[in-house]
Amino acid sequence: MKPVWDRESLCQFAKAKLSDYLFIIVSNREPYIHSYQGNEIKCEAAVGGVTTALEPVLSAIGGIWVAHGSGDADKVTVDSQNKLMVPPEESRYTLKRVWLSDREVNDYYYGFSNQALWPLCHAVDIKPLFDGTQWDTYRKVNEIFAQSVLEEIKHRKALVFVQDYHLALLPRLIKRASPETAIVQFWHIPWPRQKAFQICPWREEILNGLLGNDLLGFHTVRHCRNFLTTVNRTIAESKVNYEKAEVTVAGKKTEIRPFPISIDFEQLSKEAQSVEVKEEIERLRKELNLSDKFVGVSIDRLDYIKGIPRRLMAIDRFFEKCPEYRDKVVFIQVTVPSRTEIPSYRKLRENIDALAERINLKHGFGDWKPIITMVGPVPTTTLAALRSVANLCIVSSLHDGMNLVAKEFVASRYDSDGVLLLSRFAGAAKELDDALLVNPYAIDHLAASIKEALEMPRIERYRRMRRKRSIVRENNIYKWAADIILELVKLM
Ligand code: UDP
Repeated sequence: MKPVWDRESLCQFAKAKLSDYLFIIVSNREPYIHSYQGNEIKCEAAVGGVTTALEPVLSAIGGIWVAHGSGDADKVTVDSQNKLMVPPEESRYTLKRVWLSDREVNDYYYGFSNQALWPLCHAVDIKPLFDGTQWDTYRKVNEIFAQSVLEEIKHRKALVFVQDYHLALLPRLIKRASPETAIVQFWHIPWPRQKAFQICPWREEILNGLLGNDLLGFHTVRHCRNFLTTVNRTIAESKVNYEKAEVTVAGKKTEIRPFPISIDFEQLSKEAQSVEVKEEIERLRKELNLSDKFVGVSIDRLDYIKGIPRRLMAIDRFFEKCPEYRDKVVFIQVTVPSRTEIPSYRKLRENIDALAERINLKHGFGDWKPIITMVGPVPTTTLAALRSVANLCIVSSLHDGMNLVAKEFVASRYDSDGVLLLSRFAGAAKELDDALLVNPYAIDHLAASIKEALEMPRIERYRRMRRKRSIVRENNIYKWAADIILELVKLM
């Protein structure tokens, strides 16, 4: 077996390569959020790939994480420079909070980021809304973040790692004021085909902002190519080298590279074998009456890109075509509400509830309901138990940058069993090509794949899952961070 990156080796590597630099991470979301619970203040840690990989690096080498302070007790927990040391019991690095008014959050976050850039880059059912006021606020907020970062850099040798589509203009603002600073950004969502991007009225400003980076990462080679072509067609004075995957504008070079994000494979694999998860499996089996049933599981943030209504229609079609499976299969759909301030997200919730109810009425009988819905956030132990108990996991996003749920399912299956149905249009499909790859738009095809998954011989299930596990084990979240650091130090 190849040596695998882990938390320890990543920290050693970062110490060796980055110790001379002031390391600054910038993201919209903060790694720790303080909120009032009655008169008490509670500190909650964010969970997710980026914090899993980058918090150990920051903890090992020190540095600053700049993020929007969104908690109602955030202001009373910082010093006069808007800073505090975290993690709470360890004080290893500085969290610096940036303050935004409700109006700014509304226009920059719910507005331009999530009603213009998000649909623009995913290019599915919902079309972008381009609103001049929201764009102006997006620009202003990027300037606020830039100011906060620049105050820290002053004349120091610094490396700034920017996260995601909320901060597309930030790299240029920093580079202009501090040309020596090394800047890398990871774009966590897809980059669309160049034609789709042309509908954005501020396409040149966004591209110029991103081209302030020295290194710009996407999940897949396809997203990198889409970006290169978009720049080539949009920025007249750009020189695009497709072979080297780099762009030069006015003598400034930006390298474009794929870094597929991932998960902590070992931790999730171990968690699945814990006593707590085993007990939770027993509880779920009893409470949901799963003992003699096949179980299908889907876990999604409530978003129109996840293709949930079409998935439910495919389940409906499956029971129509295969009535012999009635009372034998249960589909558990976990959805975590998100961005509920945006009308299309609220409508989606209603649509999903109505569809699930209709399908349950149509096919269900006695105690058996074909679809069980759970509204999250669901505790991690329950999620792990659901992944372990499932015969199949359906990920049928219409378009998705990566989709970590697919990789989490693989990591949980230390028994090498379970079938993953995975959308061809999720970034994860590139690595996990041993999954049953599905077209989420083709309802009949998806219904047929559900049957195929249920009837897949055990030896075939094992073969596919073992290969997927060895891929995710090696390409874990620590490798994601190490590869980015490695590429960046080559440029410094
Ligand atoms: N998740 C969670 N609680 C829930 C449901 C989901 O923490 O109740 C997690 C899930 O385990 C995964 C993440 O949310 O790590 C979703 O990531 P993904 O890449 O699949 O989709 P995204 O939400 O980033 O679009």
